[in-house]
Amino acid sequence: KVPEIIQQNKLVPIIQAHINTSHYPYWQWSPCLSCKWWRPPRCHHCKLCGGCILKRDHHCFFARNCIGLKNLRYFLVFLFYTCVACAFTVFHGVNFLLQFYWADMSYLDLVPMLSFLRSILGSNTTLAQVGVMVIMGYGLLALSLLSFMHFIDACFSLVVGKTGFELENNIDVKDPRSVTKKLQSVFGPHWQYAFILPTPYFLSPAIEDPYNWSYLIPPKKKNPVIQLVDP
Ligand SMILES: [Zn+2]
Ligand SMILES: [Zn+2]
Repeated sequence: KVPEIIQQNKLVPIIQAHINTSHYPYWQWSPCLSCKWWRPPRCHHCKLCGGCILKRDHHCFFARNCIGLKNLRYFLVFLFYTCVACAFTVFHGVNFLLQFYWADMSYLDLVPMLSFLRSILGSNTTLAQVGVMVIMGYGLLALSLLSFMHFIDACFSLVVGKTGFELENNIDVKDPRSVTKKLQSVFGPHWQYAFILPTPYFLSPAIEDPYNWSYLIPPKKKNPVIQLVDP
């Protein structure tokens, strides 16, 4: 049984020695055996960060941190500006390639291995051109696609009101609030400015309740169990 003390809005240390080590339903306070406290729904332990993360979305290897309640806002702005920077760089990069490299090249050089072979066999394309083409052309393209896909993924997750963990595991949590309310819960009341002017947190603090989730409809039919020590 979950002790009554967890009704308070904070993570509660595990005092009892005898914790039931079987699996707990997803939508319920559950004990973290590593941190030795009770945690609310959506709070998961990350082995890499070495702690429990409120509203854990995923562990981001680019940010070298977990994305959760307190930094989702910055993660979204980071992705947005990464996409802007990629679009800007691709535009100028492609123009640069067309202006200075394309005259000596053919469509066959768009295949890296083929252009490498052609340059060895004495075509107009030099090895430097092949290198620039591969690094600038394909590197930029891959980075842009990666950023764009991550951004779309994060926006989708925000709009449907599910964490990355819930989307991945197909957990039936419903967030009936409007999209504006969902945006405000992450970016604060002045959410419109957060993307264009990354306003500091104190100007527009987020208004999400990571303990009770009273505005959400928890999974009814399917309330999957989670392991006590999450991935
Ligand atoms: Zn933990
Ligand atoms: Zn982590």
